[in-house]
Order: sequence, then C-alpha cells, then structure tokens
Amino acid sequence: MAKKAPSLMETIVSLCKRRGFIFQASEIYGGMGNTYDYGPLGVELMRRTKEAWWNSMVTERADVVGLDSAIIQHPKVWETSGHVAGFSDPMVDCKKCKGRFRADKLEDARCLERPSKQPGQCGGELTEPREFNLMFKTQVGAAEATSSTAYLRPETAQGIFLNFKNVMDSARLKPPFGIAQIGKSFRNEITPGNFVFRTREFEQAEMEFFVHPDEDVKWYEYWKAKRFAWYTEYGVNPDKLRMREHDQSELAHYAKATADVEYEYPFGWGELEGVANRTDFDLKRHSEATGENLLYFDPQTKEKYTPYVIEPAGGMNRTALTFMIDAYEEEQLEKDTRVVLHFHPEIAPITAAVFPLVKKDGMPEKAQEVAAQLRKARFTTFYDEKGAIGRRYRRQDEVGTPFCITIDGDSLSDDVVTVRHRDSMEQDKVKISELVTFLIEAKSNWKRPEKKE
Ligand code: ATP
Repeated sequence: MAKKAPSLMETIVSLCKRRGFIFQASEIYGGMGNTYDYGPLGVELMRRTKEAWWNSMVTERADVVGLDSAIIQHPKVWETSGHVAGFSDPMVDCKKCKGRFRADKLEDARCLERPSKQPGQCGGELTEPREFNLMFKTQVGAAEATSSTAYLRPETAQGIFLNFKNVMDSARLKPPFGIAQIGKSFRNEITPGNFVFRTREFEQAEMEFFVHPDEDVKWYEYWKAKRFAWYTEYGVNPDKLRMREHDQSELAHYAKATADVEYEYPFGWGELEGVANRTDFDLKRHSEATGENLLYFDPQTKEKYTPYVIEPAGGMNRTALTFMIDAYEEEQLEKDTRVVLHFHPEIAPITAAVFPLVKKDGMPEKAQEVAAQLRKARFTTFYDEKGAIGRRYRRQDEVGTPFCITIDGDSLSDDVVTVRHRDSMEQDKVKISELVTFLIEAKSNWKRPEKKE
C-alpha cells in the first residue's frame, strides 16, 4: 500500500524536531500535552521574532515605552480584571451561537441569538460542562496552611494597567502614548493545540496605547493597519492573511471593538493577533478597586479623563510558527527537490554559514577566520566543513540560512569569497574586507520570493 504523504503540519513538526527548533516538553517522560521546549534554532527564531516586534512597537517610536512586570501579581488584580470570575467556573459552550455559559447558572443565562430562551433551549447543542481553570493557581508563602493563593498571569496586559501611572509620571508621557511588554503568559488550555499554535505557556507581546476617549476609533483603525502591515513586512504572504472584525456577540466583556489578524494555517484560518478597543474598562476597574487616581490631567485644557486603550496583542510562538509555515517550500529544481525556508533575513535563526570548499590546504583555517569576523559583527554564524558543498547548501536551505559563504583555493591569495543566496541560489564574489557591509545591504534589500506553489 502506498504511504500517505505527510501533511504540511506533520512535515513542519518533524523538521522542527530533526533540526532542533522545537521539541516536545518532558519527552523522555512520555511528553507533556500542549507544552514544548525550544532548541538552539528555535531559541534564535523566537528571539528574532520578539526583536522584530519590539523594534516596530518600541525602538522605532517616540510614543511607546517598554515594561517588564511580574508574572505573579496581587491576587486581587485578577478579581478586578474579571479573570477570577470569568475563568474558573464549570462552563458549557453553545455550538450554535458560540456563547459560553456557567453550567451551574444556565437558568440565569440567556441565549445570545434568542434572548427569551435559556442556553440549550434554542436548539443549539451544549458541550459537556468543563472546569474552566484557565488561570494556573499557585501558593505564595512558605507553609501551605498560611500561604495564599495567587495566579500565574493569563495575559501581560494587566501588569501594564497596574503601572500606568508609574510609567506615565516617570517617563513624562501624555496621551496618546503606549506601554509595551513581551513576556510569558499561562493558560490551562484544554482544547487541542495544533503544535505550538496553542500551548499552556506562551510568549505574549502586548501594547496598551492610551488615548483621549474621543480619539479611540481613529487609533483603533491606525493600529489595525499597522499590525497587519507588520506581518507582510516580515515576508508573510498577504494572500494568506486577513483582518476579521468581531461581531457584537464575540466581543470580550471589556471591548468596544476587536479585530483579529488571521492566517490561513494548514488546519484552517486562525488568530495570529487581536487588536482591541478596551475602552477605559481596566483603568476604571483598578481605580475603583484600589481608590487610586488613574486619571490623566491635561494641564493645557485642564481636562481630567480616564484614557481609552487600544491594544494590539499577539503571540510570539504563534507568530514564529506562522513565519515558518509561510516560509516553507519544497522547491522543484531541474534534477531534484530542495526544502527551503524563505525566512526574512532578520528572522532567520542563522544569518550566515561559512564553508571551506575542501577540508585541506589552509581553507578551513581561512574559513574559521571569516566565521569569527562575522560573529564579531553580531551575525549568528555556522561553520561547516563536512560533506559535499551541495549538501551543505541544502542543510542550510532547510533551516532558512539566507547566506552561505564559501572559501576556495583562490580565497587564500585574493581574499575573495563566494556568497550564495538562499532564495535565488545566485552567487556573488565579495572581498572579505567588504563582506559585513555586503551582507547588511543584502539583508535590507531582501524581497519575499514568489514561491512556486
Ligand atoms: P484564542 O482565541 O486563540 O484562544 P485569545 O483571543 O484568547 O486567543 P488573546 O487573549 O487575544 O488570545 O491573546 C493575544 C494573542 O496571544 C493571541 O492572538 C495569540 O497569538 C496568543 N495566544 C493566546 N493564547 C495562546 C495560547 N494558548 N498559546 C499560544 N498563543 C496564544
């Protein structure tokens, strides 16, 4: 019987393991559901993904600053934010109207489509009740009897709201301004994961942009466009991206409007990032709960107000996975097929690979020198002298290395190397003294290639 060809997802999962991007967590103990570890190439991919986000959201802007808040905050924070009440009850979902209801309070709840009915009475099938402990609980304190329950944060956003005043005052900011944060969030996810698309712990990248209440719509539109464009700037195929506005019934309790940037994954359309108009909900709630004044006072107009918040919130693991899926190609060449990841050069885990053409006559030593020079210039560089040169190229194509540099016999006397470009497979002769400048330029001139799909 003919063997079934693996799906694209299966291929990516196996490439990730084979080449050291991502491993099943606790694998030698039989694995842990929805949990993964990142290997040498995965760590580089994640670092670059986060760096690309940070550059666009913080470094390149005068109106956004960074924050790194604690994972475990005061437990009351999550009561105020609505997470304790919203995330820890037995819940059922209506498959028809997509409403989510407390299983023990169905008689008090109303169908989203037919408010005169209770959930389930409208003909929609209800799922089995599930304990929705989306928040992980932990104990703070030495002895269990005297310790108190705290939570691992399910989103980084609350840490930003808690520091709104601290940051605004210390950084001397006034609306419109933003506070950005990248960090781990934790959710006790029970739905199937699709590899690292949905995991129990993940790196979230969120930015809360504080604006005058009259300007929320303008900024909401601005951030939707800006965030959508970011993915295409990093090479994601625009035909596989869409912006989907939530309808009223889908909106979270705090949101006036939300739109998701979605990608067409091998398993269907899925959310990459959400852009939400969170209104003044969070700041007002925290202000009410603590008695703290979380208003902005405009000294010019003498106006006092609670800013509205526009929040782009993305997942860095999901983004890195998307970069990978989107970059993957089995390219049909004249004689054979090559597997290539067309990563944007800023995203590729290894920037340059350096090869001596053969393992003798001083070429390895010269190649090591070139590799050291590139490392010093902060290029992640891989040195390889094993096997035929064609095979070495292919191994780098498979992990998305944009530039392979070969040192041959002539290089020893003329100090000229061959740079081979991953996407076009074209080659350039470059003087070693000009190599760093050449690579910097080639990186910034990179264009997404038309894949032959
Ligand atoms: P989903 O509908 O997929 O559960 P969400 O709407 O709950 O996501 P948000 O709270 O808006 O997600 O979080 C912002 C981003 O964080 C998401 O767009 C996604 O990229 C990422 N994210 C959320 N949950 C997970 C998870 N369990 N694993 C990996 N990434 C996640």
